Amino acid sequence: MIELKNVSKWYGSFQVLTDCSTSINKGEVVVVCGPSGSGKSTLIKTINALEPFQKGEIWVDGVPVHDPKTDLPKLRSRVGMVFQHFELFPHLSVTENLTIAQIKVLGRSAEEAKTRGLKMLDRVGLIAHKDKFPGQLSGGQQQRVAIARALSMDPIVMLFDEPTSALDPEMVGEVLDVMVGLAKEGMTMMVVTHEMGFARKVSNRVIFMDVGGKILEDCSRDDFFGNLDARQPRTKDFLNKIL
Ligand code: ADP
Ligand code: MG
Repeated sequence: MIELKNVSKWYGSFQVLTDCSTSINKGEVVVVCGPSGSGKSTLIKTINALEPFQKGEIWVDGVPVHDPKTDLPKLRSRVGMVFQHFELFPHLSVTENLTIAQIKVLGRSAEEAKTRGLKMLDRVGLIAHKDKFPGQLSGGQQQRVAIARALSMDPIVMLFDEPTSALDPEMVGEVLDVMVGLAKEGMTMMVVTHEMGFARKVSNRVIFMDVGGKILEDCSRDDFFGNLDARQPRTKDFLNKIL
């Protein structure tokens, strides 16, 4: 579903991604972790072309992201993205937040968009809040609306960039529960997170990135957590700090 081949990116002379290669199969859940500044956000954003890169190739469902001829808005409409800050439109109701991109980007009718949006809102357990505005919801609820909004676009893959790290601790669980449900239903997911409980429970693979945008580990969940002796010193160091 996703393939990265030797992706490198620089900001001026600063290399933010160094020869990153990996692939994600349909239905796989891959967790990306690593220290702050190691390029996790940049890496995940290259996949839906929110960040350009100078070297390498990325394929999403057979579509070449690196090819200047690729219709990037169309690609983006098929790749769901959920950020640390929910980025809902504050002046639109929950229902309007769920429908606007379906109507403007996918060309769905208002009625069709509403049916789909409310179905996804129900799925994240928030149908009772459909007429509220984002500011009337808790952080955890807003993030669940953001997930419902992404799902309303019928994405072929979902990218998450630290979706729970801006939340108060008591709200982390409700967002992770939604993500666990998605994973169990077979959604292809790439998740930047330090929630190692989530990684242990549902991920198939774990990627560890280190400063300079290098993929230091790319291994099965069981190897990552169960065979610590085989891990790189930097990985062990990181895990010792957060576990
Ligand atoms: P992470 O998500 O792992 O914390 P990021 O991908 O956000 O890392 O950033 C990786 C590195 O790239 C950091 O050192 C950051 O300061 C740098 N960086 C990010 N965006 C820019 C930018 N627009 N210009 C210059 N440097 C940037
Ligand atoms: Mg980041």
